[in-house]
Amino acid sequence: MRSTNIIILAIAALLVGCQNSTGQAPNKTIALDMNAGSDTMNQYDHSKNPHYSHTDTSKLDLPLSEWKKLLPEELYYVAFEKGTERAFTGKFWDFDGVGTYACAACGNVLFQADAKFASSCGWPSFYQPERKNSVAYHDDNSFGMVRTEVTCGRCGAHLGHIFDDGPPPTGQRYCINSVSLEFLGTK
Ligand code: FE
Repeated sequence: MRSTNIIILAIAALLVGCQNSTGQAPNKTIALDMNAGSDTMNQYDHSKNPHYSHTDTSKLDLPLSEWKKLLPEELYYVAFEKGTERAFTGKFWDFDGVGTYACAACGNVLFQADAKFASSCGWPSFYQPERKNSVAYHDDNSFGMVRTEVTCGRCGAHLGHIFDDGPPPTGQRYCINSVSLEFLGTK
């Protein structure tokens, strides 16, 4: 019983800490180290994902069972179970490469690096998406907070949340999980 209480207190402390320092509270937090054992910005072999495209903007409405078959476990967890990678562990939070970011699940172009800014929150942050319908927005009242969830406008993958404490010109901060992104470089 005592150990159960300790676990509950630890989880509560984690949630409060994340909310206060970043505004990006976890839905479910897992420790993802996307740098581990990887020498590429791609997370998996896209040739096995027939829906992956940087040019096809038609909407995808696939069953979760299909995504589960196509995606690496950690990507499926964040994208379709609304997980959140631990702050300062993703490969892009302090990455400043020049180029384009796409949805790791479907390839939809989401952000340009020139809209990325240095944020202390521990997740890659952008002040605007690639185009208006690159992303979609949803009310998220989980964990007793009022937030706006950001998903991929094509496949519906969970990306992160948007906050109004970003820099000019938009004043918005798209706080995005690294694991939901792939960096395409310049094209
Ligand atoms: Fe997508």
